[in-house]
Amino acid sequence: MNKEPLLLVLAGPSGIGKSTIYKILCEKYGFELSVSATTRSPRHGEINGVHYYFITEKEFDEKIKHGDFIEWALVHGKYRYGTLLETIESALKKNKHLVLEIEVQGHQALRNHPNPLIRKYLKSIFLRPESIEDLEKRLRARKDDVPEEVIQTRLRTAKEEMARESEFDKVVVNRDGKLDEAVREIAEFVHMAPVK
Ligand code: 5GP
Repeated sequence: MNKEPLLLVLAGPSGIGKSTIYKILCEKYGFELSVSATTRSPRHGEINGVHYYFITEKEFDEKIKHGDFIEWALVHGKYRYGTLLETIESALKKNKHLVLEIEVQGHQALRNHPNPLIRKYLKSIFLRPESIEDLEKRLRARKDDVPEEVIQTRLRTAKEEMARESEFDKVVVNRDGKLDEAVREIAEFVHMAPVK
């Protein structure tokens, strides 16, 4: 069992199941989610302060100015997302295990962060599909009616992200119907056992 704090980055293309996996890591393995700030609007069922801090463009600018973010990125060329320095500092102080569901630019920023403690406790996983065809199937199978153009953008971004998977400490394949295997592989990699 890992006694030191952990900053576990979970990245991977949209539709690969990151949120399902981080929920299991939180519910069964004692992780906490690093709640990011974003300028996008909440989706159905998302709660401010639980899934994200939903803030305005102006508030995001203010936070950048005050140095409140440890990293931030513009995602899909549209909305900004950032990890709060306060969340990370408090987790390190309290020896917590955090999951950061962030994308590849954010991971790179943390990996090169000037604070050696961030680099020391950082572990990163890239979650990928078996193939791009498999990801396309998943994206099309989602209940929400996603326009074709959005699916194509997501697939394009997915290919770009998958080209950078070697930047991560570990690549885990989330095979269709084998979610438990992916979770187990991640937990073993960071030496965590279920707490429930
Ligand atoms: P969504 O809007 O679907 O929740 O997230 C879109 C993308 O933003 C995902 O790839 C997610 O990993 C990324 N993201 C969420 N929070 C952060 C953050 O704080 N920093 C960075 N760099 N990316 C984030």
